[in-house]
Amino acid sequence: MIENAHVVTVSGDEYPDGHIVIEGDRITAVGSGKAPVQDGERIDGAGCLATPGLVNTHHHLYQWASQGMAVDSTLFDWLTTLYKPWSKMDAEVVAGAATAGLGWLAKSGCTTSADHHYLFPKGRGDLFAAGIEAAREVGVRFHPCRGSMDRGESQGGLPPDEVVEDLDTVLAETEAAIDRYHDPSPGSMLRVGVAPCSPFSVTRELMVESARLARAKGVRLHTHLAETLDEEEHTTEQFGMTPAEYMDSIGWLGPDVWLAHCVHLRDTDVKRLAETGTGTAHCPSSNARLGAGIARVADLLKEGATVGLGVDGPASAEFVPLAGELRQAIYLQRARYGPTALTARQALEMATLGGARCLGRDADLGTLEPGKLADVALWRVDGFRAAVDDPVVAFAFGPTPPLARLLVGGRTVVDADTLVTVPQDEAGRRGADAHRRLMRLAEEVL
Ligand SMILES: [Zn+2]
Repeated sequence: MIENAHVVTVSGDEYPDGHIVIEGDRITAVGSGKAPVQDGERIDGAGCLATPGLVNTHHHLYQWASQGMAVDSTLFDWLTTLYKPWSKMDAEVVAGAATAGLGWLAKSGCTTSADHHYLFPKGRGDLFAAGIEAAREVGVRFHPCRGSMDRGESQGGLPPDEVVEDLDTVLAETEAAIDRYHDPSPGSMLRVGVAPCSPFSVTRELMVESARLARAKGVRLHTHLAETLDEEEHTTEQFGMTPAEYMDSIGWLGPDVWLAHCVHLRDTDVKRLAETGTGTAHCPSSNARLGAGIARVADLLKEGATVGLGVDGPASAEFVPLAGELRQAIYLQRARYGPTALTARQALEMATLGGARCLGRDADLGTLEPGKLADVALWRVDGFRAAVDDPVVAFAFGPTPPLARLLVGGRTVVDADTLVTVPQDEAGRRGADAHRRLMRLAEEVL
């Protein structure tokens, strides 16, 4: 049980001096005052804010190994610079990068993370399995999405031909990944998604067949959409439609779909995303780092659309803490729409319940309520932060506070602001080793 904390349930109630009782991997009670049970481990939450564990809706963990490169480039220039080293990565690079990336996320309150892996160079080991093993070690819930690209330069796509796969291989590998790893149970630690990379790197046929496969298997669909003006120009030229119109035309909007970015949307696109129940993974730091623009989050929320937060790959958002994306989202929305565009509590809801909705987990995750999974972040808002009366404002407006504890299904992943499932120093070292290995592999002439 956690006692004496400021508990924000995100389902409507807040308890300034509250408790949370956990049995097994579920929450059994939440309320004001002392916990209504006697026996068990007692966590003193005095000076702490308790929130649901944060949900990261968009990531490319392998990119931990290629941070700090092409730092002043647009998305398309950045991609064409990075495709080369990425084409040389192997399972060892992914394992190290994913361990560091997930450890870093846990340190900023993340209890569930999506991952979008879309490059599978031949003969370099099982890259998809490497990410899954890292998530098991770190102990966070994992939604790895089997990504793909099949439209290389020779077919009018952006990536060089050597990093794309053919359609039959993609579909067979994706189906095999679902059959092997996907766990649809309510307490699941691992659910697989289907995620062709983007309209400018994937053929129409692969988009359509991916949706067919995902729906036949009962798993979710994910891709990048409307990230930059370059992309809009590309799809207008190739298909005569905006990116969102194109996806709508091929059955890719719906309650089982969530899309990363959605920066460049027309009013009609915003309405379609809302009325189809399509989720958006908002990644404000990445959008700012690549100069892509400011997503229409305030408009999407006004229309009732589902919006979650994401850090995106570390190569386009170096060392971004997931909790820090609340502030980035608030600031960027206010820069575009004015001071009432997004509140601290709305940002917290996006980072928790909104993310859980994107991933189809809102029945079990995203709020602190009896019956839900015990994914809880306990943030230290005492010390310097006690100068702000409202701990949610201190949390969302300030830099990421230290974590007193992070629980995933009741299991401690972070204790006293230190990753404990994998020794924290070791997680950092594995990530740095992965970077050095990738740089060495990139120099090799095959
Ligand atoms: Zn991305």
